[in-house]
Amino acid sequence: MKQRKFKTEVSELLQLIIHSLYSNKEIFLRELVSNSSDALDKLKYLSLTDEKLKGFAFEPRIDISFTEGDKRTLTISDNGLGMDEDDLANNLGTIASSGTKKFLASLTEEQKKDSNLIGQFGVGFYSAFMVADKVEVISRKAGEEIAHKWSSTGKGTYSLEETTREEQGTTITLYLGEEGTEFANRWQIQQLVKKYSDHVAFPIFLSYDQESVDDKKKDKDGNPLKTVEHKVEQINNSSALWRNNKNDITPEEYNEFYKSSSYDSEDPLFYIHTKAEGAIEYTTLFFIPAKAPFDMNQADYRPGVKLFVKRVYITDDDKELLPTYLRFVRGIIDSEDLPLNVSREILQQNRVMSSIRNASVKKLLSEFQKISEQNPDKYATFIEQYNRPLKEGLYSDYANRDTLLELVRFKSSTEDGYVSLASYKERMSTDQKSIYYITGGKESTLKASPLLEAYRKRGFEVLIMSDDIDDIVVGSIGTYKDLPLKAINKSGAVDDLKSDEEPVEKTKESKKLIKKIKKALGDKVKDVVISSRLVESPAVVVVDENDPSVQMQQLLKSMGQGDFEDIKPILEVNIEDPMVKKIEASDDDEYVADLCSVLLDQALLAEGVMPKDPVAFTKKLHSLLSR
Ligand code: ADP
Repeated sequence: MKQRKFKTEVSELLQLIIHSLYSNKEIFLRELVSNSSDALDKLKYLSLTDEKLKGFAFEPRIDISFTEGDKRTLTISDNGLGMDEDDLANNLGTIASSGTKKFLASLTEEQKKDSNLIGQFGVGFYSAFMVADKVEVISRKAGEEIAHKWSSTGKGTYSLEETTREEQGTTITLYLGEEGTEFANRWQIQQLVKKYSDHVAFPIFLSYDQESVDDKKKDKDGNPLKTVEHKVEQINNSSALWRNNKNDITPEEYNEFYKSSSYDSEDPLFYIHTKAEGAIEYTTLFFIPAKAPFDMNQADYRPGVKLFVKRVYITDDDKELLPTYLRFVRGIIDSEDLPLNVSREILQQNRVMSSIRNASVKKLLSEFQKISEQNPDKYATFIEQYNRPLKEGLYSDYANRDTLLELVRFKSSTEDGYVSLASYKERMSTDQKSIYYITGGKESTLKASPLLEAYRKRGFEVLIMSDDIDDIVVGSIGTYKDLPLKAINKSGAVDDLKSDEEPVEKTKESKKLIKKIKKALGDKVKDVVISSRLVESPAVVVVDENDPSVQMQQLLKSMGQGDFEDIKPILEVNIEDPMVKKIEASDDDEYVADLCSVLLDQALLAEGVMPKDPVAFTKKLHSLLSR
């Protein structure tokens, strides 16, 4: 018998599960049944496609039994694919999913106490240790002769030894501790299976002893005769829920199906069930989780859609089933027309698959739109979680761009919460020629930007784009319903604000002033211009139409990307401002140089950019104030 150590992250995960999921310990049964169901799916698939296992005949089933009394146990058994020695060590001695590993590493101590967070990823097999003092796994892999026994008390190590098992599959025995005694009970098990695993596609049988008392027959002491009958009874529905008629499925059934198949402990925000008949026949059942999956923004996210062909499970690990930007969608695609032995490579080029995929995307997006129109509250919750991936769709899914433009939301300088482009357009005044936005910083910084002054004064709404991907995304939008989108922190938007009422006088004096400031600032700026849009601030910085915004430069710099030494800002000055008037009036070169330098630095500060030399800045400020 070999004793082995768990990988450290397993020990950590175990601690985490035991402490934070404790109030919801009953989910262990759902997790184990779902593992069994996966193993049956896999073997069924291999028996149709794998050279070695082709024609392998078996009646897929899951069996649950228990013992009462002093030594209470609960056993879950399946005749699925099973595991060999390496599988046992690799699957039950380490954490297989790297997403889970990263997730664990990213949690703070505070977050580790939040059971909702933990509930978001598959705790799987290890949840057994919430109710058991010891767990024993006997498994024999299909096509192999020997079986192995894995055993552990969940305290750092596990043992592995050879054993026998009649047929392929896995038997998990839980030696229930004090915390688990309640589960060695027929009614309890029945109720949990009904609640969590009713629609597992395979029959789940419970075996139990039923005692009956026969008054007519007496035992040798003259007491009524007790007989014990051993019973085996199927306790789940075992129909693939998605194959049923929509009208025959209750919302509760949908929700339970979701929770039992997706590792989420919360009801979904909504679901979309579609049966397509015609040239291509398929069924899809999609769920939108109430909270974004924890790994949504990781490159190695776990895809949430399973592919079935004629009810036979094919894969749950194909990122091509839906476009990347819809990676938060959970559910199933069941096709009538794909071959069972469809490989990943074939899937990607398969005509049937690509039409199912395209139709699914259209269906999902139109459903999102329907909800945005009919149920604004629900849509707000949806946007809170999924605005960002939808924005990714804007530059990755050109075919659905128009729909996506209606779905994405932005913050606004004049409205609370999120606004759509359509509602922005409705609020526009007749003399407004473009949709204005500001990008590249935190929402609070952007909302306080002096650049907004003139737009506010004119009654123009400005979209506040504070998401870090906004800069990339809006660039790809270009126009919305023929209206150009213009960044107010770039030089191109300025012209729109010029009007007859506010002529910008390019008098001799102002030209002289500009020259003076340019001379004082030298190569710290690309240009100095008179502002037509400032009301309260003395100056602002903008960047050239084709340069990244000041904040974007900072963001890229902080990620170690790009060298922006030579991208200089353009300084826009307000000639009505007293500070600027002082520059105009003075002949003292040193004084003018200090004023100009502070003028530039405070304009950068207002955009959230630290002055290059903070000490020099404060010194100059001090000298100016003490003057
Ligand atoms: P997950 O199911 O999320 O992958 P688990 O910790 O529940 O994580 O299980 C880890 C792995 O162990 C599974 O992916 C599977 O390969 C294997 N496994 C667990 N239970 C069984 C079983 N009953 N039959 C075959 N393999 C199993």
